[in-house]
Amino acid sequence: MDETIYLDHAATTPLDPRVLEAMLPYLTGRFGNPSSIHRLGREARQALDEARESVAEVLNASPQEIIFTSSGTEADNLAIQGVAQALSLEGRGNHIIVSAIEHHAVLHTGDYLERFGFQVTRLPVDGYGLVHPEVLEEAIRPDTLLVSIMYANNEVGTIQPIAELAEVAHRHGVYLHTDAVQAGGALSLDVEALGVDLLSLSAHKFYGPRGVGVLYVRRGVPLLPQMHGGGQERGRRASTENVAGIVGLAVALRLAQEEREAYNAHCLRLRDRLIAGLLERVPGARLNGHPTRRLPNNAHFCFEGVDGESLLVRLDREGICASGGSACTSGALEPSHVLAAMGVPPEVARGALRLTVGRQNTPEQIERVLDLLPHIIEELRGRAG
Ligand code: PLP
Repeated sequence: MDETIYLDHAATTPLDPRVLEAMLPYLTGRFGNPSSIHRLGREARQALDEARESVAEVLNASPQEIIFTSSGTEADNLAIQGVAQALSLEGRGNHIIVSAIEHHAVLHTGDYLERFGFQVTRLPVDGYGLVHPEVLEEAIRPDTLLVSIMYANNEVGTIQPIAELAEVAHRHGVYLHTDAVQAGGALSLDVEALGVDLLSLSAHKFYGPRGVGVLYVRRGVPLLPQMHGGGQERGRRASTENVAGIVGLAVALRLAQEEREAYNAHCLRLRDRLIAGLLERVPGARLNGHPTRRLPNNAHFCFEGVDGESLLVRLDREGICASGGSACTSGALEPSHVLAAMGVPPEVARGALRLTVGRQNTPEQIERVLDLLPHIIEELRGRAG
């Protein structure tokens, strides 16, 4: 088979060799438990403290506001359940607001809370996937506890006006959480400039390891722990710390933010070529998401008359790794909830394709995709017709 062309960086990214190098000592000789008194424990504790300071610095936060978790999913669950439950216990209400295009880590957490008496409003978005601040303002009630709106969408890449949304929430005395999992490698994460109260990250989206995440929690925001056990993470998240993973996350985050400008310029060049080329060469191709307020590495299309799943299989046969816009739920292919919320008809949403570029992609790879894809689509359309 020809070389693999990996265009699925929104799903996960390869580990940066510099990150692996930083992690290795903590997977081998420096294996101590940070809670141990002895020298190996102290060594691990120091690595953990340094990682926390580094992450805090990148986020313009303080180390006490950083909680390490096992994933972006866990960070989202902890943020939403933790704040909703803490405030509800204080008798402050039982209403939360999310957007309709959140990742399932947020949406399903909302569904779960509904089973325990919470009320959840799911905010509509416009045709580009944007949440409008006035729509948020209208949805806020006296019993609203928390708003959770993602920084950038994982399917179509639309970037939300988080600072404006946070301002609206705060005007009504409501906390705002943002799932910044897809934004981690591409956008500024300065929590003061964003004005957010909670922010989730996941290392494997910015060339760090899988299975480690961060939840930033602004000082003073009430949060009920969801993992009960030891007193790690200042009593907010029990369990022995994943020291190697946390060290890797901190290094990956620092590199991502330091190299952001060059990385984004590289991605933009490739992505814009991909978008222009496909719109030109494939009749009836439609770009989803916002034309400019989108992640620099995201290109997302619908090709009417094409089954997205078959398209992915054909691309895979050519060595091209891409992603669709559908979630496979108990064997049945459901059209994407993101595209549905944006008003894309189900028969169009069936032909969704997400191409997300990254560090190792080259202009030659993009040209190969532009040569192949129009033929594959023509072939699939012929088969369907
Ligand atoms: N939130 C968003 C927007 C995501 O894209 C993802 C992963 O795809 C997650 C949350 C979940 O992160 P993790 O894979 O670390 O659990």
